[in-house]
Amino acid sequence: MDNAQTSSYSTVAAQNLPSGNQFWYDRQVEVHVKFKTPLKREEIYDELVKLHYDFKNKLSAMIQLPGLIATLYAYNRESAKQLRQLLALSPKVQEVYGVGENELKVTISRVPPQIKEEEIAQVIKDFAEPLRMNIIKDKYGIQTGSRHVIIKRSTMQHIPRFLKIGNVTLLARYEGQPSCCEYCRTEGHERENCKELERKRQLWAQKKTSKILKEELNIPFPLKQTIQKDKRNLCKSKYNQD
Ligand SMILES: [Zn+2]
Repeated sequence: MDNAQTSSYSTVAAQNLPSGNQFWYDRQVEVHVKFKTPLKREEIYDELVKLHYDFKNKLSAMIQLPGLIATLYAYNRESAKQLRQLLALSPKVQEVYGVGENELKVTISRVPPQIKEEEIAQVIKDFAEPLRMNIIKDKYGIQTGSRHVIIKRSTMQHIPRFLKIGNVTLLARYEGQPSCCEYCRTEGHERENCKELERKRQLWAQKKTSKILKEELNIPFPLKQTIQKDKRNLCKSKYNQD
């Protein structure tokens, strides 16, 4: 069989789509919670105990974000579903939002603020059905250039890493996406394993070393001149003062 064909988008997509196998189902799932008041880590655990959620065996991570939000990572979809249901019952919780059973979160980054939600939805539509979108802001309320698009998993084909809107290139990333290098823009490897980038880095390192050597060997001419000039000025002023 042809190699290029085996790793095509549609083939990889088929492996990642819900088809009754455990592969996608067993992946960890994020659940975002917004609390009514700021809670300490221990207080969140206490709340989970009260809700009878076995967090020690069902959570792989809990990350608290600035403000009232925490992201809890459940080991699989079943644990995440249970967590969402229980948290919704807690009097301390304002809102629970996460990715549903048949949904997938796609992070679009390097998005300038003038890009409209409809424009992003339009490019995504070629590959999957977008359900909702979030503009990500930092704790000062300033956009970070990232947007989260929730898409319907069952309708999806793989979304390429690079998306174009007019002359703006955006990056799309999600769990299970085939690898693609953000440096040389070639599919099949990630930036960390880019041979071209490695070669460039070696070249830069060589250039840097030779530049440092050059600088050590000869002080540039204008610098010499200023030193001499300064000395002259110093002498003159001394002379004038006397
Ligand atoms: Zn590369």
